[in-house]
Amino acid sequence: MPVPHRAYNFNPGPAILPQSVLEKAQSEMLNFEGTGMSIMEISHRSPQFEETITSAKELLRELLGLPESHEVLFLQGGASLQFFMVPFNFLTAGKEANYIITGSFSQKALQEAAKVGPTHTAASAAREGFCRIPDENELEISPNPAYVHITTNNTIYGTQYKALPDVGDVPLVADMSSDILSCKLDMGRFALAYAGAQKNLGPAGVTAVIINREMFQEIPDGLPSILDYRIHAESGSLYNTPPCFNIYMVELVLKWVREKGGLEEMEKKNREKASLIYNTIDKYPHFYQGHAQKEHRSLMNITFRLPDEQMGKEFVERASREGMVGLKGHRSVGGIRASIYNAMPREGCETLAQFMEHYCHQKG
Ligand SMILES: *Cc1c(COP(=O)(O)O)cnc(C)c1O
Repeated sequence: MPVPHRAYNFNPGPAILPQSVLEKAQSEMLNFEGTGMSIMEISHRSPQFEETITSAKELLRELLGLPESHEVLFLQGGASLQFFMVPFNFLTAGKEANYIITGSFSQKALQEAAKVGPTHTAASAAREGFCRIPDENELEISPNPAYVHITTNNTIYGTQYKALPDVGDVPLVADMSSDILSCKLDMGRFALAYAGAQKNLGPAGVTAVIINREMFQEIPDGLPSILDYRIHAESGSLYNTPPCFNIYMVELVLKWVREKGGLEEMEKKNREKASLIYNTIDKYPHFYQGHAQKEHRSLMNITFRLPDEQMGKEFVERASREGMVGLKGHRSVGGIRASIYNAMPREGCETLAQFMEHYCHQKG
């Protein structure tokens, strides 16, 4: 059924973008900054694009509070290419790549690393169905770790790190695809962090990589250029033709985040938004069962089940008729997943919470 106006978009990714960002892109589509062309039609070496990519990097640096030691790259291949590129650059002879397994994406990251060299699972929440984040004291890091890889937010299971694990002086690497820019974090703790854009940053097709320049020393010579972080850094992410439109969209999203008050304000709003839905789950514990343990609940992806699968299906269909789309849970968890990234307005969460109330009263 067609949606007559903008939907409340709870899709996990590609995901909701701020409406003002879409409107701005629309207004500049035919004539970007007086060029008489769209951003997609101009050279990636033009001053207009140079300005766009520089501004995107600077905004990301400013919003995340990146230390001088860290570089911002915009790459292609999604988070999935980073699953391979991280071990390909850093898993050197005699070392083991360590992974903390908290969901499907960390499993995939580990599988790709295993194609490059020795891996080690430092901790895993697989046995508990990924309903929690392992404690720091459960970590068993191997003798010669190349790095420890974590997934800061588990998009499918709906769990999230509340504090970064202390891994001493072992480089910490993070997949932050589904929670970058959602809350304040000490980014200096990461040797490398990456995020596919399609959750909190913009459209799919560009990946933000934040890397501590010290890591460049670890990279062996002779890697294929396109897979070498140093080459991308040296060329300012312009080694080859970048996804210009996507980087432009990321810049608009970053300006929007700054306009809204930066990460402090994002975090505050995200907490309020998530509470609206978690409080409803907790109010009707016999009807709604949250997947994640309370202290590990994600601010971005809220996962829960109804009394049976059929009811879950009907819930999704009815919500969709009321303008709330994308609520079907991932097949590995079932039930419902409400993805409430930065761009989801509070009103969307209020509407969903009210719908949950009504639905429970009617069926429960
Ligand atoms: C969506 C997602 C991915 C996959 O990203 P691609 O850009 O499709 O490769 C990886 N990790 C996490 C945490 C995600 O949420």
